[in-house]
Amino acid sequence: MCRDGGECGKDVFGEFRKLEIMKYFLAIIGGGPAGYTAAEIASKAGKDVIIFEQNALGGTCLNVGCIPTKTLLYSAKQYYNATHADKYGVKADGVSFDYAKIVQRKTKVVRKLVAGIKQKLNNEHCTVVMGAASVVSRTDEQVVIACGEEQYEAENLLICTGSTNFVPPIPGIKDNPAVWDSTMALDSKELPQSMIIVGGGVIGMEFATLYQELGVPVTVIEAMPTILPNLDQEVVAILLEKYRKAGIQILTETKVTEIQGNKVVTTNGEFEAEHILVSVGRRANMQGLEALNDLEMFRGGIVVDEFMRTNLKNVYAAGDVTGKIMLAHVASRQAEVAVGRMLKQIPLQRIAYNAIPSVVYTNPEIACVGLTEKDLNEIKEGDFAPSMSTDEPFVPYEVHKLPMTYSGRFVAENEGETGLCKVIVDKRSKAIMGVHMIGNPCSEFVAAASFAVRMGYTVGEFKQVVFPHPTVGEVLREVIAEF
Ligand code: FAD
Repeated sequence: MCRDGGECGKDVFGEFRKLEIMKYFLAIIGGGPAGYTAAEIASKAGKDVIIFEQNALGGTCLNVGCIPTKTLLYSAKQYYNATHADKYGVKADGVSFDYAKIVQRKTKVVRKLVAGIKQKLNNEHCTVVMGAASVVSRTDEQVVIACGEEQYEAENLLICTGSTNFVPPIPGIKDNPAVWDSTMALDSKELPQSMIIVGGGVIGMEFATLYQELGVPVTVIEAMPTILPNLDQEVVAILLEKYRKAGIQILTETKVTEIQGNKVVTTNGEFEAEHILVSVGRRANMQGLEALNDLEMFRGGIVVDEFMRTNLKNVYAAGDVTGKIMLAHVASRQAEVAVGRMLKQIPLQRIAYNAIPSVVYTNPEIACVGLTEKDLNEIKEGDFAPSMSTDEPFVPYEVHKLPMTYSGRFVAENEGETGLCKVIVDKRSKAIMGVHMIGNPCSEFVAAASFAVRMGYTVGEFKQVVFPHPTVGEVLREVIAEF
């Protein structure tokens, strides 16, 4: 039985149509953002497509990732805003929440969106098979895939099997009922009394936000010298200051050596909580692909070229399984590129990895795109064209920044908050190379910055773009006007 109740090997719509042996143009393993995007595009182009999903369409993102976390976070933010309403002259006494109802709503949102994906694939006449698929054999002409009792043939295979939570080899972690991964945390209908979060990355900090806003004492334990280590550290420092003031205990350079029941033993002392959420990364999901034993791998991810081709002719991979940037919008873009290449669409598409936006849904939100100052300082001779002078980094850059309070809309809607918008520009060409922001709702306008980085816009070109007033996004234009 598949997780969503369907019988393995059967069409997701409960019908037996199309299950007779037929050769498909494209077989896709995995129905997450990479898989369903590819299925939709290839079917729309008139190709016969079959997609296999062992749990639920929508993958990690819709079922146990992006969407459920953001739905819970939205409820937490509503509660937080209500309890802080007096800042805006609003009296809201006796505000409370019902966590079981919050979780119920999350489940409803997920169901609705998963149904939408099913409907889309149905509309495009794509064959959806619920069940764990495995590759049986492959030649340069065809791939044979088994699912349940059936076998299917396809000219091309797109691997979109995603990733799963990584369980670090810490003594006491396995089969410990106090230890949760992100999926267990999302499923729990009860709010923990207290929470230790091992891992101060994006997922860890989003859960820290959820629990803290709902009044749960939270401790974050991070092995690195800082939380969110890949982000601009000036932006992270603003979040850290706010979260420490709010009462979240954040320990950095602290390694967990053992977990004993509810107790976490670290290099920096022992800590106890009702639950311990371990979120220290994810690993590519390779089950079912064993027959592809000559598939080239690097650090656990499938190696792909710029068109998402693997080293095996007619085998492509997209999404988390490539181990590149584990984000849903990267997965779906990679899928677009892969299908574009299979269909030999001209001009051939590529992904601009330098212009991938990323958002951390803390409160305030962090949103960024492009290079950080740290990235630029680490560029070595030969990576890029060398600069003219020896006392400058190899890509000489200029930075301008402003507090978010330069936006009237931000001041109106974020009483007592600060925030930052920082822009990094190539000193020689004046091209925009990076934008790093903290302040609500910067996730909503970071796409404008992505567009500028993607298209290689200079500050002069960006200054010609008119932003509506009053919006928080105007701050981006204000910073760029400083160059
Ligand atoms: P997945 O979504 O993992 O889908 C892979 C699918 O393949 C799964 O459904 C799996 O069941 C199926 N599968 C695997 N093997 C087989 C097999 N052999 N046969 C049949 N089916 C198989 N990203 C963002 O961009 N924004 C966010 O806010 C965000 N929040 C997140 C929060 C959490 C808690 C987590 C865990 C992740 C979050 N992510 C977020 C990451 C995002 O979910 C992933 O990057 C995205 O889902 C990757 O898509 P994918 O298609 O590669 O893989």
